[in-house]
Amino acid sequence: MADIASKKRKRASKTPELLRGFRDVIQEEAPYWQHVQASATDLLLDYSYSEIQLPILEATSLFKRTIGEHTDIVSKEMFTFEDQGGDSITLRPELTAGMVRAYIEHGMFNRPQPVKMYSIGPAFRYERPQAGRYRQFNQLSVELFGDAQPVADAEVIFISYLLCKQLGLDVTIHINSLGSSESREDYVQLLKEYIKPKRSLLCEDCKKRITKNPLRLLDCKEEACRALFIQAPLLVDNLDDESKKHFVAVLEHLDESEVPYELDPYIVRGLDYYNRTAFEIVASVTNDAVEGEEATVTNLIVGGGGRYDGLVEILGGRNTPAIGMAFGLERLVSAFKKTKSGISSEKKPQVFLAQLGEEAAKHAFTLFETLRSNNIRVRANFGKTGLKPQLELADKLGVVYTVILGQKELLDQTVIIRDMENGIQEVVDLTKIVDEIKKRLKKGR
Ligand code: AMP
Repeated sequence: MADIASKKRKRASKTPELLRGFRDVIQEEAPYWQHVQASATDLLLDYSYSEIQLPILEATSLFKRTIGEHTDIVSKEMFTFEDQGGDSITLRPELTAGMVRAYIEHGMFNRPQPVKMYSIGPAFRYERPQAGRYRQFNQLSVELFGDAQPVADAEVIFISYLLCKQLGLDVTIHINSLGSSESREDYVQLLKEYIKPKRSLLCEDCKKRITKNPLRLLDCKEEACRALFIQAPLLVDNLDDESKKHFVAVLEHLDESEVPYELDPYIVRGLDYYNRTAFEIVASVTNDAVEGEEATVTNLIVGGGGRYDGLVEILGGRNTPAIGMAFGLERLVSAFKKTKSGISSEKKPQVFLAQLGEEAAKHAFTLFETLRSNNIRVRANFGKTGLKPQLELADKLGVVYTVILGQKELLDQTVIIRDMENGIQEVVDLTKIVDEIKKRLKKGR
Protein backbone atom coordinates (compact mmCIF):
# COMPACT_ATOMS: atom_id res chain seq x y z
CA MET A 1 0.00 0.00 0.00
CA ALA A 2 2.71 2.38 1.11
CA ASP A 3 4.50 1.55 -2.09
CA ILE A 4 1.54 2.50 -4.31
CA ALA A 5 1.04 5.72 -2.37
CA SER A 6 4.68 6.69 -2.74
CA LYS A 7 4.59 5.88 -6.48
CA LYS A 8 1.53 8.09 -6.86
CA ARG A 9 3.23 10.89 -4.97
CA LYS A 10 6.29 10.58 -7.18
CA ARG A 11 4.17 10.72 -10.32
CA ALA A 12 2.30 13.75 -9.02
CA SER A 13 5.53 15.63 -8.32
CA LYS A 14 7.13 14.77 -11.70
CA THR A 15 7.31 17.60 -14.22
CA PRO A 16 4.30 17.15 -16.51
CA GLU A 17 5.31 16.12 -20.03
CA LEU A 18 3.82 16.59 -23.48
CA LEU A 19 0.86 14.34 -24.23
CA ARG A 20 1.57 11.49 -26.65
CA GLY A 21 1.11 12.58 -30.24
CA PHE A 22 1.44 16.29 -29.40
CA ARG A 23 4.45 18.47 -30.09
CA ASP A 24 5.96 21.88 -29.45
CA VAL A 25 7.35 24.04 -32.22
CA ILE A 26 10.36 25.55 -30.48
CA GLN A 27 12.32 28.68 -31.40
CA GLU A 28 14.70 27.01 -33.85
CA GLU A 29 11.84 25.51 -35.85
CA ALA A 30 9.40 28.42 -35.73
CA PRO A 31 11.07 30.41 -38.56
CA TYR A 32 10.37 27.50 -40.96
CA TRP A 33 6.69 27.60 -39.98
CA GLN A 34 6.60 31.37 -40.42
CA HIS A 35 8.19 31.04 -43.86
CA VAL A 36 5.78 28.33 -45.04
CA GLN A 37 2.73 30.19 -43.72
CA ALA A 38 3.86 33.52 -45.17
CA SER A 39 4.52 31.93 -48.58
CA ALA A 40 1.09 30.30 -48.51
CA THR A 41 -0.85 33.38 -47.47
CA ASP A 42 0.92 35.65 -49.98
CA LEU A 43 0.07 33.24 -52.76
CA LEU A 44 -3.52 32.73 -51.66
CA LEU A 45 -4.19 36.45 -51.32
CA ASP A 46 -2.81 36.98 -54.86
CA TYR A 47 -5.36 34.44 -56.10
CA SER A 48 -8.19 36.23 -54.19
CA TYR A 49 -8.59 33.77 -51.31
CA SER A 50 -9.45 35.59 -48.07
CA GLU A 51 -8.73 34.36 -44.60
CA ILE A 52 -11.47 33.07 -42.33
CA GLN A 53 -10.77 32.28 -38.67
CA LEU A 54 -12.88 29.59 -37.08
CA PRO A 55 -13.31 28.11 -33.60
CA ILE A 56 -11.50 24.91 -32.74
CA LEU A 57 -14.49 23.49 -30.85
CA GLU A 58 -17.70 22.77 -32.75
CA ALA A 59 -20.88 20.79 -32.14
CA THR A 60 -20.17 17.07 -32.54
CA SER A 61 -23.08 16.74 -34.96
CA LEU A 62 -21.27 18.99 -37.47
CA PHE A 63 -18.62 16.33 -38.01
CA LYS A 64 -20.96 13.35 -37.80
CA ARG A 65 -23.13 14.81 -40.55
CA THR A 66 -20.33 15.87 -42.85
CA ILE A 67 -17.38 13.52 -42.47
CA GLY A 68 -19.67 10.48 -42.03
CA GLU A 69 -20.51 8.22 -39.07
CA HIS A 70 -18.63 5.22 -40.50
CA THR A 71 -15.36 6.92 -41.31
CA ASP A 72 -12.31 6.22 -39.13
CA ILE A 73 -12.25 9.86 -38.08
CA VAL A 74 -15.77 9.94 -36.66
CA SER A 75 -15.96 6.37 -35.41
CA LYS A 76 -12.68 6.30 -33.49
CA GLU A 77 -10.51 9.39 -33.75
CA MET A 78 -12.45 12.39 -32.49
CA PHE A 79 -11.73 14.13 -29.19
CA THR A 80 -15.35 14.44 -28.11
CA PHE A 81 -16.67 15.40 -24.70
CA GLU A 82 -19.60 16.94 -22.92
CA ASP A 83 -19.32 20.57 -21.90
CA GLN A 84 -20.62 21.88 -18.57
CA GLY A 85 -24.04 22.45 -20.15
CA GLY A 86 -24.31 18.80 -21.25
CA ASP A 87 -23.76 19.46 -24.98
CA SER A 88 -21.55 17.14 -26.99
CA ILE A 89 -18.67 19.11 -28.48
CA THR A 90 -15.63 18.05 -30.49
CA LEU A 91 -12.15 19.40 -31.15
CA ARG A 92 -12.29 19.76 -34.92
CA PRO A 93 -10.62 16.87 -36.76
CA GLU A 94 -10.37 18.98 -39.94
CA LEU A 95 -11.36 22.48 -41.06
CA THR A 96 -13.66 22.03 -44.06
CA ALA A 97 -16.80 21.21 -42.04
CA GLY A 98 -16.39 24.43 -40.05
CA MET A 99 -15.89 26.44 -43.23
CA VAL A 100 -19.08 25.03 -44.71
CA ARG A 101 -20.94 25.83 -41.49
CA ALA A 102 -19.61 29.39 -41.62
CA TYR A 103 -20.53 29.72 -45.32
CA ILE A 104 -24.14 28.90 -44.45
CA GLU A 105 -24.29 30.74 -41.12
CA HIS A 106 -23.03 34.01 -42.63
CA GLY A 107 -25.25 33.75 -45.73
CA MET A 108 -22.24 33.71 -48.02
CA PHE A 109 -24.39 32.39 -50.90
CA ASN A 110 -25.64 36.00 -51.14
CA ARG A 111 -22.16 37.21 -52.02
CA PRO A 112 -20.79 37.16 -55.55
CA GLN A 113 -19.71 33.58 -56.25
CA PRO A 114 -17.30 31.94 -56.10
CA VAL A 115 -16.46 32.59 -52.47
CA LYS A 116 -12.81 31.72 -52.02
CA MET A 117 -11.35 31.35 -48.55
CA TYR A 118 -8.60 29.78 -46.55
CA SER A 119 -8.06 29.01 -42.90
CA ILE A 120 -5.05 27.89 -40.89
CA GLY A 121 -5.05 26.20 -37.52
CA PRO A 122 -4.91 23.07 -35.43
CA ALA A 123 -6.96 19.91 -35.94
CA PHE A 124 -7.15 16.92 -33.62
CA ARG A 125 -7.38 13.19 -34.29
CA TYR A 126 -6.81 10.40 -31.80
CA GLU A 127 -4.61 8.39 -34.15
CA ARG A 128 -1.72 6.07 -33.38
CA PRO A 129 1.21 8.50 -33.24
CA GLN A 130 3.96 7.76 -35.76
CA ALA A 131 6.32 9.72 -38.00
CA GLY A 132 4.37 12.55 -39.67
CA ARG A 133 1.17 11.64 -37.80
CA TYR A 134 0.17 13.55 -34.70
CA ARG A 135 -2.87 13.89 -32.49
CA GLN A 136 -2.75 17.65 -32.80
CA PHE A 137 -1.60 18.84 -36.21
CA ASN A 138 -2.10 21.98 -38.24
CA GLN A 139 -3.93 22.31 -41.50
CA LEU A 140 -4.06 24.96 -44.16
CA SER A 141 -7.50 24.54 -45.67
CA VAL A 142 -8.30 26.16 -49.01
CA GLU A 143 -11.91 26.17 -50.25
CA LEU A 144 -13.75 27.49 -53.29
CA PHE A 145 -17.57 27.65 -53.04
CA GLY A 146 -20.09 28.24 -55.80
CA ASP A 147 -18.39 27.03 -58.98
CA ALA A 148 -19.16 23.60 -60.44
CA GLN A 149 -16.88 23.93 -63.46
CA PRO A 150 -13.73 21.84 -63.90
CA VAL A 151 -11.69 25.05 -63.95
CA ALA A 152 -12.44 25.48 -60.23
CA ASP A 153 -10.99 22.03 -59.44
CA ALA A 154 -7.96 22.86 -61.58
CA GLU A 155 -7.48 26.22 -59.85
CA VAL A 156 -7.33 24.69 -56.37
CA ILE A 157 -4.93 21.97 -57.56
CA PHE A 158 -2.80 24.48 -59.46
CA ILE A 159 -2.43 26.77 -56.45
CA SER A 160 -1.56 23.82 -54.19
CA TYR A 161 1.08 22.79 -56.69
CA LEU A 162 2.41 26.35 -56.94
CA LEU A 163 2.85 26.60 -53.20
CA CYS A 164 4.86 23.38 -53.13
CA LYS A 165 6.96 24.55 -56.06
CA GLN A 166 7.56 27.91 -54.39
CA LEU A 167 8.86 26.02 -51.35
CA GLY A 168 11.24 24.03 -53.54
CA LEU A 169 9.37 20.72 -53.17
CA ASP A 170 9.29 18.02 -55.79
CA VAL A 171 5.61 17.03 -55.92
CA THR A 172 3.20 15.07 -58.07
CA ILE A 173 -0.57 15.30 -57.86
CA HIS A 174 -2.20 11.87 -57.54
CA ILE A 175 -5.68 12.24 -58.90
CA ASN A 176 -8.87 10.22 -59.30
CA SER A 177 -12.55 10.80 -59.89
CA LEU A 178 -15.14 9.43 -57.48
CA GLY A 179 -18.03 10.18 -59.84
CA SER A 180 -21.45 11.26 -58.66
CA SER A 181 -22.98 9.76 -55.53
CA GLU A 182 -25.41 7.79 -57.78
CA SER A 183 -22.72 6.30 -60.00
CA ARG A 184 -20.76 5.49 -56.86
CA GLU A 185 -23.65 3.46 -55.47
CA ASP A 186 -23.68 1.29 -58.60
CA TYR A 187 -19.92 0.90 -58.38
CA VAL A 188 -20.05 -0.08 -54.70
CA GLN A 189 -22.38 -2.96 -55.66
CA LEU A 190 -19.84 -4.13 -58.25
CA LEU A 191 -17.06 -3.90 -55.69
CA LYS A 192 -19.03 -5.85 -53.09
CA GLU A 193 -19.79 -8.61 -55.59
CA TYR A 194 -16.13 -8.78 -56.57
CA ILE A 195 -14.92 -9.10 -52.99
CA LYS A 196 -17.62 -11.42 -51.61
CA PRO A 197 -15.82 -14.68 -52.56
CA LYS A 198 -12.51 -13.30 -51.21
CA ARG A 199 -13.92 -12.05 -47.92
CA SER A 200 -12.03 -14.52 -45.72
CA LEU A 201 -8.69 -13.26 -47.10
CA LEU A 202 -9.29 -9.65 -46.04
CA CYS A 203 -7.84 -8.01 -42.93
CA GLU A 204 -10.20 -7.51 -39.98
CA ASP A 205 -10.64 -3.79 -40.73
CA CYS A 206 -11.58 -4.49 -44.35
CA LYS A 207 -14.12 -7.10 -43.26
CA LYS A 208 -15.89 -4.35 -41.35
CA ARG A 209 -15.49 -1.89 -44.22
CA ILE A 210 -17.49 -4.13 -46.60
CA THR A 211 -20.70 -3.14 -44.91
CA LYS A 212 -19.79 0.15 -43.30
CA ASN A 213 -17.55 2.00 -45.76
CA PRO A 214 -16.85 -0.22 -48.80
CA LEU A 215 -14.98 2.43 -50.82
CA ARG A 216 -12.28 2.51 -48.16
CA LEU A 217 -11.44 -1.09 -49.07
CA LEU A 218 -9.51 0.37 -51.96
CA ASP A 219 -7.06 2.35 -49.89
CA CYS A 220 -6.26 -0.31 -47.29
CA LYS A 221 -2.52 -0.31 -46.63
CA GLU A 222 -2.26 -4.08 -45.89
CA GLU A 223 -0.24 -5.85 -48.58
CA ALA A 224 -2.58 -8.87 -48.66
CA CYS A 225 -5.65 -6.67 -49.21
CA ARG A 226 -3.91 -4.52 -51.80
CA ALA A 227 -3.02 -7.63 -53.79
CA LEU A 228 -6.68 -8.66 -53.80
CA PHE A 229 -7.80 -5.32 -55.20
CA ILE A 230 -5.40 -5.21 -58.13
CA GLN A 231 -8.00 -7.03 -60.23
CA ALA A 232 -10.99 -5.20 -58.73
CA PRO A 233 -13.30 -3.11 -60.90
CA LEU A 234 -12.23 0.54 -60.78
CA LEU A 235 -14.28 3.62 -60.03
CA VAL A 236 -12.86 5.54 -62.99
CA ASP A 237 -14.08 2.82 -65.36
CA ASN A 238 -17.59 3.15 -63.97
CA LEU A 239 -18.13 6.89 -64.00
CA ASP A 240 -21.35 8.52 -65.20
CA ASP A 241 -20.92 10.50 -68.44
CA GLU A 242 -21.01 13.93 -66.83
CA SER A 243 -18.35 13.00 -64.25
CA LYS A 244 -16.20 11.50 -66.97
CA LYS A 245 -16.41 14.73 -69.00
CA HIS A 246 -15.64 16.76 -65.91
CA PHE A 247 -12.60 14.64 -65.07
CA VAL A 248 -11.17 14.86 -68.58
CA ALA A 249 -11.59 18.64 -68.53
CA VAL A 250 -9.79 18.94 -65.16
CA LEU A 251 -6.89 16.90 -66.54
CA GLU A 252 -6.75 19.07 -69.66
CA HIS A 253 -6.41 22.16 -67.47
CA LEU A 254 -3.59 20.50 -65.54
CA ASP A 255 -1.86 19.52 -68.79
CA GLU A 256 -2.05 23.10 -70.05
CA SER A 257 -0.66 24.55 -66.83
CA GLU A 258 2.06 21.88 -66.67
CA VAL A 259 1.05 20.49 -63.31
CA PRO A 260 2.65 17.05 -62.96
CA TYR A 261 0.01 14.45 -62.11
CA GLU A 262 -0.53 10.71 -62.02
CA LEU A 263 -3.85 8.95 -62.32
CA ASP A 264 -4.37 6.93 -59.15
CA PRO A 265 -7.56 4.85 -59.25
CA TYR A 266 -7.15 3.84 -55.60
CA ILE A 267 -7.54 7.30 -54.09
CA VAL A 268 -10.90 7.41 -52.32
CA ARG A 269 -10.04 9.74 -49.38
CA GLY A 270 -11.12 9.02 -45.85
CA LEU A 271 -14.14 11.29 -45.70
CA ASP A 272 -17.61 10.58 -47.03
CA TYR A 273 -18.36 13.95 -48.53
CA TYR A 274 -16.29 13.91 -51.71
CA ASN A 275 -17.65 13.51 -55.23
CA ARG A 276 -15.91 13.71 -58.60
CA THR A 277 -12.33 15.00 -58.27
CA ALA A 278 -10.24 13.58 -55.42
CA PHE A 279 -6.51 14.17 -55.17
CA GLU A 280 -3.45 13.94 -52.98
CA ILE A 281 -0.24 15.89 -53.16
CA VAL A 282 2.72 13.59 -52.90
CA ALA A 283 6.13 15.08 -52.18
CA SER A 284 9.26 13.15 -52.98
CA VAL A 285 11.52 13.86 -50.01
CA THR A 286 15.24 13.13 -49.77
CA ASN A 287 16.23 12.05 -46.28
CA ASP A 288 19.70 12.75 -44.95
CA ALA A 289 22.15 9.92 -45.44
CA VAL A 290 22.99 8.02 -42.26
CA GLU A 291 26.62 7.07 -41.76
CA GLY A 292 27.78 4.51 -44.28
CA GLU A 293 24.48 4.51 -46.14
CA GLU A 294 23.09 6.44 -49.08
CA ALA A 295 20.39 9.07 -48.73
CA THR A 296 16.90 7.62 -49.16
CA VAL A 297 13.91 9.10 -50.93
CA THR A 298 10.42 8.72 -49.47
CA ASN A 299 7.00 9.81 -50.59
CA LEU A 300 5.12 12.04 -48.18
CA ILE A 301 1.47 12.96 -48.65
CA VAL A 302 1.57 16.64 -47.76
CA GLY A 303 -2.03 17.41 -48.62
CA GLY A 304 -5.21 16.26 -50.25
CA GLY A 305 -8.64 17.39 -51.27
CA GLY A 306 -11.52 17.08 -53.61
CA ARG A 307 -14.92 18.25 -54.73
CA TYR A 308 -17.80 18.19 -52.26
CA ASP A 309 -20.86 19.44 -54.13
CA GLY A 310 -23.42 18.01 -51.69
CA LEU A 311 -21.94 19.19 -48.42
CA VAL A 312 -23.52 22.64 -48.10
CA GLU A 313 -26.94 21.09 -48.67
CA ILE A 314 -26.28 18.27 -46.18
CA LEU A 315 -25.83 20.97 -43.53
CA GLY A 316 -29.07 22.69 -44.50
CA GLY A 317 -27.74 25.30 -46.93
CA ARG A 318 -28.57 25.85 -50.59
CA ASN A 319 -27.30 23.48 -53.22
CA THR A 320 -23.76 24.86 -53.68
CA PRO A 321 -20.95 23.18 -55.57
CA ALA A 322 -17.57 23.39 -53.85
CA ILE A 323 -14.02 22.15 -54.03
CA GLY A 324 -11.28 22.31 -51.43
CA MET A 325 -8.01 20.95 -50.18
CA ALA A 326 -6.00 20.78 -46.99
CA PHE A 327 -2.28 20.76 -46.45
CA GLY A 328 -0.87 19.11 -43.35
CA LEU A 329 1.52 21.82 -42.18
CA GLU A 330 3.76 19.51 -40.11
CA ARG A 331 4.44 17.53 -43.26
CA LEU A 332 4.79 20.57 -45.48
CA VAL A 333 7.30 22.14 -43.08
CA SER A 334 9.20 18.87 -42.72
CA ALA A 335 9.41 18.42 -46.52
CA PHE A 336 10.45 22.06 -46.90
CA LYS A 337 13.22 21.70 -44.31
CA LYS A 338 14.61 18.74 -46.23
CA THR A 339 14.89 20.77 -49.43
CA LYS A 340 17.64 22.72 -47.63
CA SER A 341 16.47 25.80 -49.53
CA GLY A 342 16.85 27.74 -46.31
CA ILE A 343 14.90 30.75 -45.21
CA SER A 344 15.75 34.39 -45.43
CA SER A 345 17.39 34.59 -42.04
CA GLU A 346 16.45 37.45 -39.80
CA LYS A 347 18.33 40.53 -40.95
CA LYS A 348 21.56 40.89 -39.02
CA PRO A 349 21.52 43.31 -36.10
CA GLN A 350 23.59 46.47 -36.65
CA VAL A 351 23.92 48.01 -33.21
CA PHE A 352 24.19 46.77 -29.64
CA LEU A 353 23.12 49.04 -26.81
CA ALA A 354 25.18 48.60 -23.63
CA GLN A 355 24.24 50.36 -20.43
CA LEU A 356 26.49 50.88 -17.40
CA GLY A 357 25.11 51.49 -13.97
CA GLU A 358 21.65 51.85 -12.48
CA GLU A 359 20.77 55.29 -13.82
CA ALA A 360 21.81 54.39 -17.34
CA ALA A 361 19.80 51.16 -17.14
CA LYS A 362 16.70 53.24 -16.45
CA HIS A 363 17.25 55.19 -19.66
CA ALA A 364 18.14 52.19 -21.77
CA PHE A 365 14.56 51.36 -22.87
CA THR A 366 14.02 54.88 -24.19
CA LEU A 367 17.29 54.96 -26.10
CA PHE A 368 16.70 51.48 -27.47
CA GLU A 369 13.25 52.53 -28.70
CA THR A 370 14.67 55.69 -30.28
CA LEU A 371 17.09 53.58 -32.31
CA ARG A 372 14.55 50.85 -33.13
CA SER A 373 11.80 53.22 -34.21
CA ASN A 374 14.30 54.89 -36.55
CA ASN A 375 14.81 51.58 -38.35
CA ILE A 376 18.17 50.77 -36.83
CA ARG A 377 18.40 47.07 -36.07
CA VAL A 378 19.40 47.24 -32.43
CA ARG A 379 19.82 44.57 -29.74
CA ALA A 380 20.42 44.78 -25.98
CA ASN A 381 20.39 42.72 -22.82
CA PHE A 382 18.76 45.03 -20.31
CA GLY A 383 19.60 42.76 -17.38
CA LYS A 384 23.36 42.95 -17.80
CA THR A 385 25.35 45.77 -16.21
CA GLY A 386 29.07 45.09 -16.69
CA LEU A 387 30.67 46.30 -19.93
CA LYS A 388 32.69 43.16 -20.65
CA PRO A 389 29.80 40.70 -20.86
CA GLN A 390 27.84 43.17 -22.97
CA LEU A 391 30.68 43.64 -25.43
CA GLU A 392 31.07 39.89 -25.65
CA LEU A 393 27.41 39.58 -26.51
CA ALA A 394 27.71 42.36 -29.09
CA ASP A 395 30.60 40.49 -30.65
CA LYS A 396 28.64 37.25 -30.76
CA LEU A 397 25.75 39.01 -32.50
CA GLY A 398 28.18 40.45 -35.05
CA VAL A 399 26.97 44.05 -34.75
CA VAL A 400 28.92 46.88 -36.38
CA TYR A 401 28.67 49.37 -33.48
CA THR A 402 28.00 49.26 -29.77
CA VAL A 403 26.38 52.31 -28.26
CA ILE A 404 27.50 52.70 -24.65
CA LEU A 405 25.41 54.65 -22.20
CA GLY A 406 27.19 55.19 -18.84
CA GLN A 407 26.61 57.34 -15.74
CA LYS A 408 28.98 60.05 -16.90
CA GLU A 409 27.54 60.14 -20.42
CA LEU A 410 24.08 60.41 -18.95
CA LEU A 411 25.09 63.51 -16.97
CA ASP A 412 26.71 65.04 -20.09
CA GLN A 413 23.80 63.92 -22.32
CA THR A 414 26.22 62.03 -24.55
CA VAL A 415 26.84 58.41 -25.60
CA ILE A 416 29.86 56.49 -26.80
CA ILE A 417 29.88 54.81 -30.19
CA ARG A 418 32.33 51.92 -30.30
CA ASP A 419 33.42 50.53 -33.66
CA MET A 420 33.41 46.80 -33.04
CA GLU A 421 36.03 46.06 -35.66
CA ASN A 422 38.85 48.27 -34.40
CA GLY A 423 37.66 49.20 -30.89
CA ILE A 424 37.82 52.96 -31.63
CA GLN A 425 35.37 54.90 -29.46
CA GLU A 426 33.85 58.31 -30.09
CA VAL A 427 31.66 60.46 -27.87
CA VAL A 428 28.60 61.96 -29.55
CA ASP A 429 25.62 64.01 -28.44
CA LEU A 430 22.70 61.91 -27.21
CA THR A 431 20.29 63.95 -29.34
CA LYS A 432 22.30 63.18 -32.48
CA ILE A 433 22.72 59.44 -31.96
CA VAL A 434 20.32 58.35 -34.72
CA ASP A 435 21.95 60.57 -37.35
CA GLU A 436 25.44 59.62 -36.22
CA ILE A 437 24.75 55.89 -36.41
CA LYS A 438 22.98 56.18 -39.76
CA LYS A 439 25.82 58.25 -41.19
CA ARG A 440 28.35 55.63 -40.14
CA LEU A 441 26.26 52.69 -41.34
CA LYS A 442 25.81 54.40 -44.70
CA LYS A 443 29.55 54.78 -45.12
CA GLY A 444 29.78 51.02 -44.83
CA ARG A 445 31.19 51.06 -41.33
P1 AMP B 1 -7.27 14.90 -44.56
O1 AMP B 1 -8.08 15.95 -43.85
O2 AMP B 1 -7.32 13.55 -43.87
O3 AMP B 1 -7.54 14.85 -46.02
O4 AMP B 1 -5.76 15.35 -44.41
C1 AMP B 1 -5.18 16.39 -45.15
C2 AMP B 1 -3.71 16.44 -44.83
O5 AMP B 1 -3.53 16.69 -43.44
C3 AMP B 1 -2.99 15.11 -45.07
O6 AMP B 1 -2.58 15.01 -46.40
C4 AMP B 1 -1.82 15.22 -44.13
O7 AMP B 1 -0.79 15.97 -44.73
C5 AMP B 1 -2.39 16.00 -42.97
N1 AMP B 1 -2.77 15.12 -41.85
C6 AMP B 1 -3.89 14.39 -41.69
N2 AMP B 1 -3.88 13.73 -40.53
C7 AMP B 1 -2.71 14.05 -39.91
C8 AMP B 1 -2.10 13.71 -38.67
N3 AMP B 1 -2.70 12.91 -37.79
N4 AMP B 1 -0.89 14.24 -38.38
C9 AMP B 1 -0.26 15.08 -39.26
N5 AMP B 1 -0.79 15.44 -40.43
C10 AMP B 1 -1.99 14.95 -40.77
